Amino acid sequence: MDTLNVDVAIVGAGPAGSRAAFCLARAGARVALIDGSHPREKPCGGGVTGRALALVADAVDLARLPSRRIRTARFVDAFAGRSVAVPLDGEALVVASRAEFDGQLLDAARHAGAQFVASRALDVTRSPDGFVVDAGPRHRVAARRLIGADGANSLVRRRLARPFARAELSIATGYFAHGAGSPMANDIVVEFAADPPGYLWSFPRPGHLAVGICAQADAGATAADLRSRTAGWIDRLALADGARLEPYSWPIPSLPAAAFRSLTVSGPGWFLVGDAAGLVDPITREGIYFALRSAELAAEAALSPGASHARYREQVQDEIADDLAIAARYKAGFFRPPFARLLIDALTESAGIRTVMADLVAGRRAYSSLKWSLAGTFEVGLAWRLLTAS
Ligand SMILES: Cc1cc2nc3c(=O)[nH]c(=O)nc-3n(C[C@H](O)[C@H](O)[C@H](O)COP(=O)(O)OP(=O)(O)OC[C@H]3O[C@@H](n4cnc5c(N)ncnc54)[C@H](O)[C@@H]3O)c2cc1C
Repeated sequence: MDTLNVDVAIVGAGPAGSRAAFCLARAGARVALIDGSHPREKPCGGGVTGRALALVADAVDLARLPSRRIRTARFVDAFAGRSVAVPLDGEALVVASRAEFDGQLLDAARHAGAQFVASRALDVTRSPDGFVVDAGPRHRVAARRLIGADGANSLVRRRLARPFARAELSIATGYFAHGAGSPMANDIVVEFAADPPGYLWSFPRPGHLAVGICAQADAGATAADLRSRTAGWIDRLALADGARLEPYSWPIPSLPAAAFRSLTVSGPGWFLVGDAAGLVDPITREGIYFALRSAELAAEAALSPGASHARYREQVQDEIADDLAIAARYKAGFFRPPFARLLIDALTESAGIRTVMADLVAGRRAYSSLKWSLAGTFEVGLAWRLLTAS
């Protein structure tokens, strides 16, 4: 078997891996991008925020991406049987098939010059010159630098750091509803759940609805329990009458605040990005933006003469993890019934608070500024009740 020698080997060609490969190849590095799964549909809502699309405007052509522009986010309070619609502007959120979105990112990386190795990485070892990736009987890749972009169950993370603990994961379970009717074509629906704490969602993708529930993996509910909750919700809201339901289940990193403050994302010559690094909003479970942005930071660090892994860690901490630590602190309160009730009240009564929520959905507002954003709506009483309940 021949060995492919490159500057940087990247394991995993989701948004994080393909973005890192694109940035590195464009800068002239020799890059191998290793993933045997394409083309594939990743279990995901497929919600891509405006800030994520802006980041990849040089790689993803929105005009060629089958997607739905979301106009309304509807929040449901099941306890009180009420809901409120929050209008979103056309730039806030699109919902796309992950086969298509990830496919365009991979194509862009290949066009930029990255070598795609269509195989699964079976092992990763250190060598005197860097790292060796064993990718089956026909592929072996040797590289000075290694990027782990292989998702929540990352092999690179398991070999060079440690796997996520159960308390650091949430489980997302549900159905792709094929052939569901079109009335919800531009709406997402979100319902907070108290037991286990989390939320149910319905996202309209072109051709099907992605419907699901997420909850912390150590909260005591099995994937089967959660899936039957989703099926009940689909019936109760009549979301997918007559549709063919295709089940899915997948882990999402969902770190507590303390873990965001002491992240393990890099070491000499290696970098973890996206889900492999744990970079997912623990409340909304938005991960695509953080996957793309961490990939850009890792590519920059891998290119630097000393492959500055410490600098990468600091940048991830400052730019991403500090704010996600605040989200993790808010999380416990977010899914309690009194908070859901107050949130629906506040959204119903205040246009200013609807705007703050629309910005949160679009990923435009940092959690660190939430208090001031709510206070700035001048709905002081409402904002105060919300803040003290969360
Ligand atoms: C049900 C669900 C709904 C979600 N909804 C949203 C949403 O609406 N919006 C949002 O922003 N985020 C959402 N997320 C989170 C989002 O899916 C992830 O944060 C995002 O995909 C992370 O990108 P990534 O590139 O780090 O990892 P991934 O997208 O998981 O890509 C990892 C890649 O690595 C490959 N791989 C794994 N192991 C190996 C190996 N050994 N060798 C080679 N390749 C390997 C996989 O095949 C895959 O292609 C959701 C997650 C779930 C589970």
